[in-house]
Amino acid sequence: MRAVCWTGRNSVEVRDVPEPSILSGRDAIVRVTSTAICGSDLHLVDGYVPSMENGDVLGHEFMGEVVEVGPDIAPDTLKVGDRVVVPFPIACGGCASCAAGLFSCCENSNPNAAIAEKLYGHPIAGIFGYSHLAGGYAGGQAEYVRVPFADVGPLKIESDLTDEQVLFLTDILPTGYMGAEMCEIESKDVVAVWGAGPVGQLAMDSARMLGAHEVIAIDREPYRLEMAAAAGHTTINFDEVDVRDRLMDLTAGRGPDKCIDAVGLEATHGATHLNAYDRAKQAVRLETDRPHALRQAIVACRSGGTVSVVGVYGGFIDKFPVGSWMNRSITLRTGQAHVHRYLEPLLRRIESGDLDPTRIITHHLPLEEAVHGYEIFKEKQDGCEKVILKP
Ligand code: NAD
Ligand code: ZN
Ligand code: ZN
Repeated sequence: MRAVCWTGRNSVEVRDVPEPSILSGRDAIVRVTSTAICGSDLHLVDGYVPSMENGDVLGHEFMGEVVEVGPDIAPDTLKVGDRVVVPFPIACGGCASCAAGLFSCCENSNPNAAIAEKLYGHPIAGIFGYSHLAGGYAGGQAEYVRVPFADVGPLKIESDLTDEQVLFLTDILPTGYMGAEMCEIESKDVVAVWGAGPVGQLAMDSARMLGAHEVIAIDREPYRLEMAAAAGHTTINFDEVDVRDRLMDLTAGRGPDKCIDAVGLEATHGATHLNAYDRAKQAVRLETDRPHALRQAIVACRSGGTVSVVGVYGGFIDKFPVGSWMNRSITLRTGQAHVHRYLEPLLRRIESGDLDPTRIITHHLPLEEAVHGYEIFKEKQDGCEKVILKP
């Protein structure tokens, strides 16, 4: 079958790879009908999230049709022919973390937990197409994918909603929503969102849906800011103005009540799992290139406010503004999205029209053209916000 493979730093290729097969009684095989490229894939391509190997299949946002199920899956749970969206975190459903609803912290889904232990000092859970650090699972930017714990993760779509309407339930819609939910938004709140990428846009819409008084989008890409403005959000271009000054102007000098970091590693200065050369190169590029989103969010947030971090980080970051955080009673919340929790409620929100995640789709490409898709998404060319790939 054809699949999008990581073939080295800043290099992806569509290759022939063996089709997946059932390896455990709780597996299913899904024939992928739609899959998307995520900002998290860019961290893998960049090499900022380490431990990819040549030929690894990328992709953790995918949906499709069940074509095979393992012997331990009851037919009323999942059967051949079911149409499903699949959450990006792989979760067993039975460990203490899963029982607490912390599905992206599952304790049983990463057979290679020792790799993360060694690099980060702690294990991380399994994620599709997300390096050997996260279990080494083949991803869903492919014709077929093996889904472990398929009796826990996949959500059946039984209505006639299009793939485009439900695909983002796999990741970026729950992620954006969780970013807003962690803010415990009140009706008077001004919510500032760093990053007007796909995750940021859906965090903005979620913040408004949860009752925010005003939502402010911060980015440097004019077309992404225009997309946020078209959805009714206020915008700040960080290339044109000082972000903190502008936020103070907009909030009578107090700062936003709630801040969401939907940028992540792109803005990190030196994650310590990188070697010295990469750290230096990254630090130089970023010190001269753009402000640091997370630092800026902590320093700009009003005293007593919340900074909610859904941008992905790994390893350690330097120059954490601990004084601003501590002295001003800022609450920091974060996590990989616990997607399973949000599947049903957010499906209802899509059905009712409260959320329309399709507004961010700018490109549909055949899987064969994935390399072009990665390029325009990474380089912000051709107005690219979100690419859907069709195997
Ligand atoms: P993206 O790369 O398309 O968007 C990031 C945006 O941030 C870009 O538009 C970029 O111009 C902007 N940006 C860069 N530096 C900035 C700064 N200093 N201030 C403001 N904006 C800045 O990616 P995406 O798909 O929207 O994903 C965003 C982040 O969310 C990534 O780190 C991704 O890994 C992460 N993510 C997390 C989860 C989770 O479960 N927590 C899930 C999906 C994605
Ligand atoms: Zn993703
Ligand atoms: Zn678990």
